[in-house]
Amino acid sequence: MRPNTMKALEKSKPEEGLWMVQAPVPEIDPDEVLIRINKTGICGTDIHIWNWDDWASHTVPVPMITGHEFAGEIVEIGRNVTGLEVGQRCSGEGHLITTDSRQSRAGKFHLDPGTRGIGVNEQGAFAQFLKLPAFNVVPLPDDIPDEIGAILDPLGNAVHTALSFDLLGEDVLITGAGPIGIMAAAVARHAGARNVVITDINADRLKLAEHVVPSVRTVDVSKDDLHDVIAELGMKEGFDVGLEMSGSQAALDQMVEALVMGGKIALLGIPPGKSPVDWSRIVFKAITIKGVYGREMFETWYKMIAMLQNGLDVSRVITHHFSIDDFAEGFSAMKSGLSGKVVLDWT
Ligand code: ZN
Repeated sequence: MRPNTMKALEKSKPEEGLWMVQAPVPEIDPDEVLIRINKTGICGTDIHIWNWDDWASHTVPVPMITGHEFAGEIVEIGRNVTGLEVGQRCSGEGHLITTDSRQSRAGKFHLDPGTRGIGVNEQGAFAQFLKLPAFNVVPLPDDIPDEIGAILDPLGNAVHTALSFDLLGEDVLITGAGPIGIMAAAVARHAGARNVVITDINADRLKLAEHVVPSVRTVDVSKDDLHDVIAELGMKEGFDVGLEMSGSQAALDQMVEALVMGGKIALLGIPPGKSPVDWSRIVFKAITIKGVYGREMFETWYKMIAMLQNGLDVSRVITHHFSIDDFAEGFSAMKSGLSGKVVLDWT
């Protein structure tokens, strides 16, 4: 039943590209499970690793099986594991934590400074089998299909960011219409925001945003002025909450300008390096800023699964499916900048 080797998509050499290799099937520890992978999602992180840019070459040891967005089925269980069973469909949290830090011992696992990422620091999910601590496993209910299970990691980023502040009845500005920004728009709608406006300078991404969340207002800020949209939507003073998803300094500046006094910003986008910020503007507008990293373990997972079961629909953000044998096409679709989420099928 258990094969000795498996297909895996690996960074085998310190240069551009990923290679399909035969790797040993991982042996599990008593607290771990072995998961047979059905579907995986390609993340921007995987593109950095493919491209072997500055960040990747300083962060990722070689060889490394990449990938951290997955859905599959438990096929083996360590002897200490309780509450899970063979045959259970699951996704899982790709951040592996330590338990001895101050934040972990306070129950804030997502703030553990010793966190290691699968597919980045530890062998990842782009493989036929993945070993994972049982603690990190998130069982999938029957009404959530594998392809959604494979994008719960980035949906979790969107949910964590969007639910950082109360959105009920609020006007929400999202800067950056990549897949996570678009999913955050869907979450903001679901959470009861009044106006949800999403900006970008890429017309194709804005088209995808309208396709996924028809009730969202898109703005191409290379052509249109946000202040006109504020007036058109009848907002008296501006947006109440901003979700920054682009890492663009211009977008953050526009957001600060477009926010009400006392407005709130959740920052998920990562600027390319140090970027100048007009702090006095932020102080005088009495703005609250929160940095967002990963997903809350496991409150974000609980909430997103509950919302998916109660009408949150992000399925159209998946624009491409490929068999794993065509992984290179999946990566080119991602690199084109025109795709939503790309899902690879391992079955
Ligand atoms: Zn990711």
